[in-house]
Amino acid sequence: MDLGIPVVRGTPEASDRPDTPLLVDRFGRIAKDLRVSLTDRCNLRCTYCMPAEGLDWLPKSDQLTDDELVRLMRIAVTLLGVTDIRFTGGEPLLRRGLEHVIAATAALRPRPRMSMTTNGIGLDRRARALKEAGLNRINISLDTLSASRFSTLTRRNRLEDVFAGLAAAREAGLTPVKVNSVLLRGVNEDEAVPLLRFCVDNGYQLRFIEQMPLDPQHGWTRTNMITAAEILASLSTAFSLTPEPAPRGGAPAERWLVDGGPAVVGVIASVTRPFCAACDRTRLTSDGQVRNCLFSQSETDLRAALRGGASDDEIASLWRANSWAKAAGHGINDAGFHQPDRPMSAIGG
Ligand code: SAM
Ligand code: SF4
Repeated sequence: MDLGIPVVRGTPEASDRPDTPLLVDRFGRIAKDLRVSLTDRCNLRCTYCMPAEGLDWLPKSDQLTDDELVRLMRIAVTLLGVTDIRFTGGEPLLRRGLEHVIAATAALRPRPRMSMTTNGIGLDRRARALKEAGLNRINISLDTLSASRFSTLTRRNRLEDVFAGLAAAREAGLTPVKVNSVLLRGVNEDEAVPLLRFCVDNGYQLRFIEQMPLDPQHGWTRTNMITAAEILASLSTAFSLTPEPAPRGGAPAERWLVDGGPAVVGVIASVTRPFCAACDRTRLTSDGQVRNCLFSQSETDLRAALRGGASDDEIASLWRANSWAKAAGHGINDAGFHQPDRPMSAIGG
């Protein structure tokens, strides 16, 4: 299928790179949004993300310490023009010292906007402290409103904890609270309407995410994936949806006003309507590897550089080279597509 994304072959020449401190690539994009994976570990086992037994977690000695992590984020903000940082994982609430990392990030100048993507478990006890540390807002993943389906989907019986986390996030002012939902055929595909009703009633912003081929079990199939078109068709049976007039910018979600607004619903159609041409992301894994795309086949080892004594400027140069080499698109729809070796949970979703 040709989706209009140019396929780029050959090695990006460093000498062609314009003289700018920013994280530019060969297609005119500038990465200002940094996704930081705080851990690859998780307390759920969502079937589309992890096998029941979990994964071989990264060794502790490979993980960036808090000081190493904050140093890399300082380089990103002060030398590379990063303006937004999203903490994710694995499950970021499992990172020891999370509030400390957030407070240290809030002290950077210029201060980056900070958000976090979490499964919400334990958030009811932490939302206020996270807000006080400087976190601006939060995305909480919730794929079903049914306790038994939640147990099947995540292999843990924790739905009530997620509801409590959502309410606590709203009360703490981590707003707008966004809800991420992945619909799976034959599992929760009939929940598009109830999930939107729940979010509208509670003041949360719902975003559906098309399932992507990033699971270690390689269980993704194009036919099993619920497409954006299917989601919209389903929502349209109960709501009137009008495209939001505001420009989408680098945001991955296409958004619609629900019943005339102000409520909105988003759909992140990474597979059927890729937004690679507007991508403004760069990614840092919990073991200090920089990736220019969820789907990239290569990484730049910043941990080795910083533990080997590299200066801030040297690390910034490595990061710029990584961005310069970014491909035009993720290639999911190309015949020769290969899933990256790292699963989503170890890259940072
Ligand atoms: N544990 C946290 C959570 O679940 O929100 C953060 C990490 S998780 C990998 C981030 C988001 O990626 C979640 O909303 C999850 O539903 C989504 N996700 C995981 N695997 C996915 C896949 N194969 N395709 C699309 N989204 C996926
Ligand atoms: Fe854990 Fe998030 Fe993956 Fe679910 S989607 S297993 S909560 S990392």
